[in-house]
Amino acid sequence: MQYVSTRGQSPALSFSDTLLGGLMTDGGLAMPTAYPGFTAAELEAMRGLDYADLAFAVLSRFITDIPAEDLRSILRGTYTPAVYCNSVTGSDAGQITPLYTLEPGLHLLELSNGPTLAFKDMAMQLLGNLFEYALARTGQSLNILGATSGDTGSSAEYAMRGKRGVRVFMLSPHGKMSRFQTAQMFSLQDPNIVNIAVKGVFDDCQDIVKAVSNDLAFKTRHRIGTVNSINWARVSAQVVYYFKGYFAATTSSDQKVSFCVPSGNFGNVCAGHIARQMGLPIDKLVVATNENDVLDEFFRTGVYRPRKTAETRQTSSPSMDISKASNFERFIYDLTGQDGDRVRGLWREVDAGGSFSLAGTDLFREVSDRYGFQSGRSTHADRLKTIRSCKERYSRLVDTHTADGLKVAWELRDPAVPMIVLETALPTKFEETMVEALGERPPRPAGLENLESLPQRSQVMDVDVDAVKALIAAADAA
Ligand SMILES: *Cc1c(COP(=O)(O)O)cnc(C)c1O
Repeated sequence: MQYVSTRGQSPALSFSDTLLGGLMTDGGLAMPTAYPGFTAAELEAMRGLDYADLAFAVLSRFITDIPAEDLRSILRGTYTPAVYCNSVTGSDAGQITPLYTLEPGLHLLELSNGPTLAFKDMAMQLLGNLFEYALARTGQSLNILGATSGDTGSSAEYAMRGKRGVRVFMLSPHGKMSRFQTAQMFSLQDPNIVNIAVKGVFDDCQDIVKAVSNDLAFKTRHRIGTVNSINWARVSAQVVYYFKGYFAATTSSDQKVSFCVPSGNFGNVCAGHIARQMGLPIDKLVVATNENDVLDEFFRTGVYRPRKTAETRQTSSPSMDISKASNFERFIYDLTGQDGDRVRGLWREVDAGGSFSLAGTDLFREVSDRYGFQSGRSTHADRLKTIRSCKERYSRLVDTHTADGLKVAWELRDPAVPMIVLETALPTKFEETMVEALGERPPRPAGLENLESLPQRSQVMDVDVDAVKALIAAADAA
């Protein structure tokens, strides 16, 4: 399988090339030349597989430049209960991504029982193991440079800690992450993890990453890689749990289900779209946003209008606070029939700070009629109310992001089709808002009770690109 660009003008890459930081030179995103498909009979044969073997059935269709036996053993080493079963909810202990039934026809898919208690662990742990494997094959090393406001950074660090050949430099805004998130990252003592607290906001961190990546000589010399949500390996690894959730909610492959996905950068729900294109019988893909409703606006009106960063609101579901949805370009590529020229034209407007509209076109009708998309949005008040009602109705705690999904799922649910809401984090990560909603602290998984009192390591820095470069260069020279 080869990977081409959504903007149609970049040479094709192999899976391993895209993994190790190969970028589409025309500014687009990597997409497979075609989606592998599963027949109903093939789906039935996959129904009983455990998570690791299901991941092999799906991902071996996308990853064709790693020998099958190696890929199988990487997947078995990644998807083990020891890594993915930190749940405090106790449902189906020992199962990876269990389905929790709230009421008949309405389920949560538990994706947040990994090491950092957010769904990003599902793909990021695999990425860590794939990096280590690919680097060992070529004898290279890789410096991962990233910016985080919370969930991505911790998930990346727990996936890369101790991995041979990989070093992580993670920038975060000094003093602006939650106490829990700060403690999660800064308490790691592994020598290959470097936490940099930047005296600025998240956008300053992201600008530093961009500036370093745009210095091509530096990027090549120091082998800079990234783990952001546009990474194809992350998106493809997320396809697997849509299959897992589907099989758990159905008894035969002539049944359909819908998914409701708390969304920010459109990475998670893009994986659902890919699963649907591969033949998984998905009825609706419901996109749930918070007050930062760029995506809800598109799915309601056909207008895609990324916001200025200054317009981005800080909300109580902070991992969905985005100004533009980076992975959305992948869906538009499919919608236009893989028309790279068309996508390039649309994103010429977007990259210049503008917007585009598909309102009133046949293409926009296909978004819902052919691809099954729907959307809704949620606010702080909705979030609090949903957390409270969920506890009252089902005796179940959900975090603020999952609450946004549940609120929209209640609104748009079709009683004839099972609805699966993706649980994207555990409540303990967003304790303050949980206390605001319920007046009590949510429980913590065993072993994390005293996280905030562990010794912490980080370096505080000014907003200074050269200082970050010097740090990377010094580590490489050592
Ligand atoms: C990252 C994140 C999201 C948003 O996921 P996207 O793939 O960016 O749409 C939602 N909820 C939580 C808890 C997250 O960490």
